[in-house]
Amino acid sequence: MTALKGSLRNRFLLSLAAVLCLALLALVTIARFQIMPILLEDEEAYADAELDRIERALGAELNHMRRLVEDWAHWDDTYDFIQGERPQYVDSNLYESTLETLDLEMMIFLDADSEPYWIVGYDAQGEFTSCPGMMPPCDWASTAVAFLGRYTEQSQDDTTRTSLLAASALALGGLSPIHQSRQESLAGGWLAMVRPLSEPWIEQLRDTTGVELELSRVPVQAGSEQILERTSPTQMTASRLIPALPSSHAVRIDASLPRQRYQASLETFRFALYWTSGVLIATLLIVLWLLERMVLTPLRQLATFTQRLHQETVPPAMPATLLCRQDEIGMLSREFRHLLEHQRQQSDQLRDLTLHDPLTGVANRRLFDQRLTEVLNDSRASEHHAAMMIDIDHFKLYNDHYGHQAGDVCLVTLAQHMEAQLKPQGFLVARTGGEEFSVLLPHTSQEDALQLARELLEAIEALGLDHETSPTSRHVTVSIGIAVQHTNTMEPGDIMRAADQALYQAKANGRNRVAAFECTDLTTAIEP
Ligand code: GH3
Ligand code: MG
Ligand code: MG
Repeated sequence: MTALKGSLRNRFLLSLAAVLCLALLALVTIARFQIMPILLEDEEAYADAELDRIERALGAELNHMRRLVEDWAHWDDTYDFIQGERPQYVDSNLYESTLETLDLEMMIFLDADSEPYWIVGYDAQGEFTSCPGMMPPCDWASTAVAFLGRYTEQSQDDTTRTSLLAASALALGGLSPIHQSRQESLAGGWLAMVRPLSEPWIEQLRDTTGVELELSRVPVQAGSEQILERTSPTQMTASRLIPALPSSHAVRIDASLPRQRYQASLETFRFALYWTSGVLIATLLIVLWLLERMVLTPLRQLATFTQRLHQETVPPAMPATLLCRQDEIGMLSREFRHLLEHQRQQSDQLRDLTLHDPLTGVANRRLFDQRLTEVLNDSRASEHHAAMMIDIDHFKLYNDHYGHQAGDVCLVTLAQHMEAQLKPQGFLVARTGGEEFSVLLPHTSQEDALQLARELLEAIEALGLDHETSPTSRHVTVSIGIAVQHTNTMEPGDIMRAADQALYQAKANGRNRVAAFECTDLTTAIEP
């Protein structure tokens, strides 16, 4: 079978491949525009929660600071001290180990006019200093004192405040008004405490939150409160600015977070994608296989069969596998075979009509001429073939007397009788004219032909078909001319002309007889 450019298989293959590509494209699009944003959003929420946790830890530390500074500021001894009534307060409370125990960098007492009253803390060399006001060796605190002075003067209320400090190093600051414990009096001054955010403290924060983090001091810029940077497929950095004092700077938390959830979700999605693709491809392959097996192969068989029909001279049989099928293709094949048989019958009938005489049913001139040509062409030099030409005697008179219809019946009776006698012996009887018949006698010598003709004459007369008006006999008779082929150069027309001449001779000699004609023009008339 020739390969078809647009064969069903190729078209199905192309269509299914297109469907597969579309499905995969849809999956990838869904992944890109639906699933990935959800994963990234989820990741952002996770980073947000982690930063919240760190911020809460810082808040807890500030709360701790608030309690500490309030404890000291709302203590009657402190109140008395700031009022100048308890000079021993310094010796009993403000010594180096107090700062160490409380993990403080400095403590600054301001009086009611926000003027420094007492300063304790460490200088730039880490030396513990304690001074009654802003004086050496406590001048390291000048910036802090100036800031506190401005801050307390500006502040409207006198509540405790805590804040992250981002002045030079990072620290926690607490500021509380100094009250008597029963809070009956106005604030006697202010107490400020500063706790450094040292590396050990940050390390502890890392341990408690379980997050790898860094704290740093940055200048405040608009629109950069929180940033999430995905540094690698497995790691990301989440940063958040926490307001601090002075307000020109902020504390930045940089948390290095694993992207486990994103990776796991991505892995799960990839797994699902691979499986879906695999199942899709497998399904398409199975569909193709089934299509090939159930539809394309039988259709191809049917197509091959139809091609063979007009390629081969002997019509092939429809494959049994097609006829046995119980599906639409089986039905189509059976219907097709049925149509084919019907068409064959009709063409047989048509050929029969073109090769036979419709009145008598015996062969017509066309078939006779075909056979005669075949016989003469196939014969070898030594073979003899004979032909007879038979004409009914005085048939016009028969018609005139008995009528045309009776004449037809007579023609049919004679034709069938002749065929019954000659056909079993392998001879062809044909009606080659109105009341004229020809017989082809292959492989027959002149003697045998004469013998046969004689027997035929007798048999016809013996039929006893009445012919009252015939001058020759009381019954219907025929005259027969015989010709025999002597050389294989003889044309079909020659032998029939010779037979016609012999018939003419038989008629001329008185009818109801046989005459034979030979190529040598030797005519033998034989009486019946
Ligand atoms: P001869 O002995 O010389 O052959 O005389 P004939 O009358 O048989 O010959 P002729 O050629 O004069 O007449 C032939 C007749 O055959 C004329 C025609 O009416 C008749 N005939 C030819 N075909 C048919 C036919 O199909 N049916 C009938 N009924 N008659 C036919
Ligand atoms: Mg005639
Ligand atoms: Mg006649």
